This record gives sequence, C-alpha cells and structure tokens, in this order.
Amino acid sequence: MTQDQSKLRPQPGIMDIALYVGGESRIAGRADVLKLSSNENPFGPSPAAREAYLAEAGALHLYPDSSHLGLREAIGRVHALDPARIICGAGSDEIIAFVCQCYAGPGDEVIHTEHGFGMYRISALAAGATPVEVPERERRTDVDAILAACTERTRIVFIANPNNPTGTMIPDAEVERLADGLPPQALLVLDGAYAEFVPGFNGSCGLVEERENILMTRTFSKIYGLGGLRVGFGYGPARIIEVLNRVRGPFNLSNAAIAAARAAVEDVGYTEYCREQNSLNRARLQADLAGMGVPSDPSSANFVLARFKSAETAEACDAHLRDAGIIVRRVAGYKLPAALRITVGDSEACARVIDAVGHFMKARV
Ligand SMILES: *Cc1c(COP(=O)(O)O)cnc(C)c1O
Repeated sequence: MTQDQSKLRPQPGIMDIALYVGGESRIAGRADVLKLSSNENPFGPSPAAREAYLAEAGALHLYPDSSHLGLREAIGRVHALDPARIICGAGSDEIIAFVCQCYAGPGDEVIHTEHGFGMYRISALAAGATPVEVPERERRTDVDAILAACTERTRIVFIANPNNPTGTMIPDAEVERLADGLPPQALLVLDGAYAEFVPGFNGSCGLVEERENILMTRTFSKIYGLGGLRVGFGYGPARIIEVLNRVRGPFNLSNAAIAAARAAVEDVGYTEYCREQNSLNRARLQADLAGMGVPSDPSSANFVLARFKSAETAEACDAHLRDAGIIVRRVAGYKLPAALRITVGDSEACARVIDAVGHFMKARV
C-alpha cells in the first residue's frame, strides 16, 4: 500500500528553518589548524571541571538529579542569584527554545535585532511564531527601533548584551528603557552569553529582579569552556521559571554536565584568569588590526568583528587566513558581508592572526 505523503507534513514554520551548518574545524592536509570561529575558551575549562567530569564515569547507569539543585545553588552563590529562580538547560539554546515554546505561537511576533544570534529566529519558527527583524544602529542594539517595532502581537524580544557577532553592548539604562517601554504581553530576554567577559558586570540581573518582564540567559559554553557539554541557565521571575520548567525534560542535563558545570562556576579564580587574559589579548588584537587598516568596534566579548573595505576583501582575507591554517567566522549570514568575526585566542593565537592579516593587508596595497 502506498501512503499519501502529502498528508504527512511538518508544522507550519518548520520548513522555513534552514538546516544548520556548523562552523568548520578542519582544513584538509593541515595539522596546525587554529579554530577561532566559535568563541570557545582557548584555555579550555577549569581543571576542577575536568576532574568533576571524569569522577562521574562510575555513575553512568544512574539517572541525573532532575532538579539540578546542587548546580543551581552553586550558580546562586557565585553570581549572587536566587537558586529558586534559576532553570538549567542543555546550553542556553535550550532555554531560548523553552521561552519560545511557552510564550509564542502562531500569529505571535518574536523580535530579534538585525545582526542578532541565529537561534532566536530558529526557535521562534519552531514554535510556529513569526520572527521580526529590527535594524541596529551602527552595529548596536537600537532600543527606539525595537520599541517602534512592537505591536499587540509581540510576545518576546531577544537581545544579546554583549551582542554576537558585533561585540557591542548597551548600558543598563538602555536595557531598562527597553523593558519599561515594552507592551504588557511581551517578555524581554537578555542573552548574557558573554556577560562574564565584562569586568564587574552580572548580566543586568538587578533589572531582572526588579521586574516581572525580563528573563536573563547565561551559558557555560563561553568563559567556562564547556561548549561540548551543553549547559546553560535562565534567571527570571519565579512565575516564568515555573512555566519554563513545565516543558523542560526532567533529565535534560547529564550527571557529568551537572558536575562539571558546578565545578567550573565555583572556580572563580580560573574564571578571573580567563577574563583577564581575554581583555589583554583582545586589546592587542584590536589595536594591531586597527594599525593595519582593519578597524573593529570596541568589543565587550571574547571575539572581535574585523571590518574590511568590501565583502570581496573580507572573503579574500578569510581565504588567506585558511591558507595560514586559521579558521574564523564569515558573518555574511548575519548581514555583515564585509566583516569577519575572530575569536580572541591565547597570546600565541592572536600573534598568528595578526601576522596572517598583516601579510594579507600588505599584499593588497
Ligand atoms: C554562544 C552563544 C550562546 C550559547 O549557546 P549555548 O547553547 O549555551 O552553547 C548563546 N547566545 C549567544 C548570543 C551566543 O553567542
């Protein structure tokens, strides 16, 4: 019996999602590849996190703690947050998906900014909602443009602060103005994936605590160096956390992920070391690139957005970097065809980038 294929259809919106193409990590025939395309921590995770991970090897047959209590309490102690208002996810990507699933559906609008992180659009479409793209101003989140784009259908507004791939940041006063100006049915999601790279900044968690309409997301994939383990968390009003927990699979984090993330967040000395190294290496990378005629906006994150004269120059530089064994991120898909996003590596990695871009720029003039 042949089946009628036309009746077997995915939900509306699903086929509008382009299949994800991951960043490359290999160049054929090269053993010395330097991967600077995914904003990973060049120093890896804290040694304590690695040990905690290995210690879980004897307990692989046991289901993990579905409440994540130990991890939430550790996050709470280190970041001065209320553990009861934390929800953990398999990466912050999963928290973003929960928010869309719970708060947006067909007919609803989900706002993201022009150069915003790709997962916002994907999760909005997966929930059947309509993504709405709002312009940025000189590669910065434009609060007025977002407020002007809000309608009675707006349910979620996503901004990353610092932003990816631009590296720029808006001050708390601007975030506050955005939260205050949103329509009552809209939730502001503050993606703080890079918050730890900003000295003294805690992702605007004070604003989260004062208001009922802000949720903050954080990740263990960036400064904590655990991108391969998939751990992130959300922090928000108890009412919203309770809603998100209804769709969370009870065992969404593995034992090893819970243990390693806990050890990572508790190793505050190591986090501080990574933050300092990033600031030093980033300053040098930005200054040296600027000296060669490759400017970038002041970055608050662990990457720089290097700008070139044209898309063609950016492409040619990317090709030159690959010839030198260096993989960076093309960001044409983020509407920045004349730029390359370069992760801040360790000092040796930055020297290699500076050297390769230097050769490229010299050959161009
Ligand atoms: C890297 C990144 C994340 C982290 O995603 P995970 O799922 O936690 O690995 C979230 N938001 C932005 C803007 C990012 O760049």
